[in-house]
Amino acid sequence: MAERLIVVLLGKQGAGKGTQCSALSAQYGIPHVSTGDILRAAVRDGTELGVQVKAVMEAGDLVGDDLVVALVKERFAQPDAARGALLDGFPRTLAQARALDAMLGDERVSLCVNLDVPTSLVVERLSKRRVCQECGAVFRADDPAGVSGTCEKCGGDLIQRSDDQPDAITTRLDAYERDTAPLLDYYRERELLVTVNGDQSVEAVGADVSSALRTRGLL
Ligand code: AMP
Repeated sequence: MAERLIVVLLGKQGAGKGTQCSALSAQYGIPHVSTGDILRAAVRDGTELGVQVKAVMEAGDLVGDDLVVALVKERFAQPDAARGALLDGFPRTLAQARALDAMLGDERVSLCVNLDVPTSLVVERLSKRRVCQECGAVFRADDPAGVSGTCEKCGGDLIQRSDDQPDAITTRLDAYERDTAPLLDYYRERELLVTVNGDQSVEAVGADVSSALRTRGLL
């Protein structure tokens, strides 16, 4: 198989992983793979998987490694993944990072980009985040769209995610420190880690990510 670009975006919830992945995906034609989006769609559609994970997600806890790894394997089998993947929210534990390496076999992760943002800022971003129930587009409560409650892209209703409520935010940030932050060392040891300052405009962060990919000869 031709070499694929497999980029892992790491960073606290609200660091901007989804925003950057969707911009990079549009720019480079590589699919944005968000396990959170896949799981939320299952909950919304009331599938067996959705029923199984709903309560865990609402509380802000992590769903099981085996389940998430199986979802990513399935996603990688789809034709567009032949170009690679921008991984958002996966891997999130060391077990998932090892499973991803095993899944890739002779291929490897191309780069891991850590979007670094102070906790106080992500708490503010998460509590002000409003998402479109239909297309998943993200707005801020004090944007014109957030104030009107209507998505500027598709006209869908904007809602506050149940896991963006204060208790769930705390649980999720604790889970990040406990389960996900160790992945920084995992990728650093493999010389695959680049840290980008996530406390900049969306465009400036995107430019830094693209430049990191270019420096490594990945674009
Ligand atoms: P996110 O949109 O990435 O913040 O994910 C929302 C929720 O989905 C998380 O709080 C978890 O409950 C679940 N989730 C998403 N990705 C994973 C993962 N890789 N491992 C475990 N749980 C996940």
